[in-house]
Amino acid sequence: LLMAYDPARRLARLQVSLERAAVNARMIYEILDTVPHQRDRPDATEIRLGEATIELCDVRFAYGSGDEILKGVSFRAEGGKTTALVGPSGAGKSTIISLIPRFYDPKSGQILIDGQDIAGVTKQSLRNGLAYVSQQPYLFEGSIRDNIRYGRPEATDAEIEEAARLAYAHDFILAQPQGYDTPVGENGVTLSGGQRQRLSIARALVRNAPILLLDEATSALDTESEAAVQKALDRAMSGRTVIVIAHRLSTVVNADKIIVMKDGTVVEEGTHDELAQRPDGLYARLHNLHGSASDMTAEDAIL
Ligand code: ATP
Repeated sequence: LLMAYDPARRLARLQVSLERAAVNARMIYEILDTVPHQRDRPDATEIRLGEATIELCDVRFAYGSGDEILKGVSFRAEGGKTTALVGPSGAGKSTIISLIPRFYDPKSGQILIDGQDIAGVTKQSLRNGLAYVSQQPYLFEGSIRDNIRYGRPEATDAEIEEAARLAYAHDFILAQPQGYDTPVGENGVTLSGGQRQRLSIARALVRNAPILLLDEATSALDTESEAAVQKALDRAMSGRTVIVIAHRLSTVVNADKIIVMKDGTVVEEGTHDELAQRPDGLYARLHNLHGSASDMTAEDAIL
């Protein structure tokens, strides 16, 4: 099984144009597709992951025959480090994230992981190395246990519980009417936004993959949930190569590298300290929306 890939958000974008609808339908198909290697190149090899450094080299991309969305994007996400993508809506941040599991392939340019072009590796081996946490976690009809196990079908009950503990989900799961066997999804119990997020983080943790792709939530959670989600994410991110679409200022400030995107290009890159010093830079302008430098530790400011 593949990781869930934000179907609700993608579906919400199902738009007027038939071509767009077709692209989105393919995305849903990909999520449910249990034979992900069927479109591999005949000579595809298994990816070999070491430190899991990801490098985009002059990547260009358009959805179908539409406008170019990524216009020559290059950056390096170091192995074991956190790289934050920031920039205005529509800049292409989610599109970059969707190229890494190869939901789509670039029109030109390469994505290398530990030096291997992902176009030449099996999708299954590539996706085994990735975990994804979305803004709107996808919970399917089934028990809480099944929903966490979706991250790695062969996971044992003990491994599922361990992942739930790490994700600060174990206690609220036990408080549900049937614990780990409680049904969720459309006909199941209703979980809060923060609880859903922690299940999604547990699902990512149970994969124990070296690469974490993360789309941080923009919607406000209550303070208690927010703190638990943040602690769970900190655990999930530690020691992994993380590419995060960052909305929280604290995530950006703590990132090892920030990639600032606009209109499908990288306009700036560096650490928070480096970028904040460029008065005319886009990053500094985004930052100024949220007050002066002395406010930079504000935990819940949203970029
Ligand atoms: P946001 O923060 O709003 O999610 P973003 O920086 O992540 O923005 P993308 O979601 O990557 O930007 O979108 C970049 C462009 O690609 C937008 O113009 C968007 O309308 C378009 N786009 C995104 N997904 C699709 C799709 N499935 N089919 C066609 N166009 C798409």
